[in-house]
Amino acid sequence: MADVGDLLARLMKHRTSRRRLLGAAIGAGTAQVISAGGASTLDLVSLAFGDGGYPHPERGPILPENLQYRQHQGGDDPFALPGLSRDASSKVHLPALASDRDFPPPPPPPAPASGRPDWSGDTLLNVMYRADTNKPLAALTIDDGWSQRSEILDVLKSRDVHATLFVVGKLLARDPAFVRRAVAEGNEFGNHTYDHRDAPTALREGTFTYQIRQPEEALRSILPGETLKPYFRPPGGGNYRDVVVAAAAEGYRTILWSVDPQDWKYPLSPGLVAPNTSSGSIVLNHFNATTAANLGAVIDAVREQRGIRFVTLSELVR
Ligand SMILES: [Zn+2]
Repeated sequence: MADVGDLLARLMKHRTSRRRLLGAAIGAGTAQVISAGGASTLDLVSLAFGDGGYPHPERGPILPENLQYRQHQGGDDPFALPGLSRDASSKVHLPALASDRDFPPPPPPPAPASGRPDWSGDTLLNVMYRADTNKPLAALTIDDGWSQRSEILDVLKSRDVHATLFVVGKLLARDPAFVRRAVAEGNEFGNHTYDHRDAPTALREGTFTYQIRQPEEALRSILPGETLKPYFRPPGGGNYRDVVVAAAAEGYRTILWSVDPQDWKYPLSPGLVAPNTSSGSIVLNHFNATTAANLGAVIDAVREQRGIRFVTLSELVR
């Protein structure tokens, strides 16, 4: 059975913040407070400020003596717990209340698995080639997406590996089933422009804004809760100051790589990737037939020979 005294005391620790307590109390009254054993259900009857009605934020301090609870249905009497007592008027007397210092603020919850870094300011201007980490992790990034989209997802799934996919926005819009499947299976997307236009050229042409905004809109039209930010990979790579600044102004950090097996030119092979991959590496691959055929062996080799597990960028930088 839940420690009801503890529950009420935790409620009361918010007494210095009356609005918060009201929310909790009214919420408790509405949703009821249920003990872990399910045996007792408590209804918050009222906060007694003289009229027995719902509390009003301006009516004065909320004190434990002012809280009234009643047992709602059968089961153990929670007021029989040590430290809790009830007088004839059914007022509940809470045990000596802990002060706020007895309830240190809880640590922030861990970021969800899909949580992306909250980069801003100068961090966005700092081009990333690899992550600064000692964890045995490396990011697997796979670019473009012109072909073998399902096959690559099949390989990732078979190895229980999640990757960051820099697929052009044009293809995101054209293949919503792929987008949904990739995200459902734990992968994430980054921004690789609308149609792979060279970024410095797009800046000169005045089309950069469209090139970088369309992919985000395409993704959100398929999965409203998803985003590509803050990952931008300019087509063809390259560290051009103007592009980095323009991307940062749109909320993106330019992400390049530290391991490039040139799988757009040569067949991907474990020998090109494993010896060069270490903690924090960002590995560049592309969607194509030979990569689809050989990526599984590469993932295995990196794990077996290097002790490194491939993850998404978000997981790498966490
Ligand atoms: Zn590309």
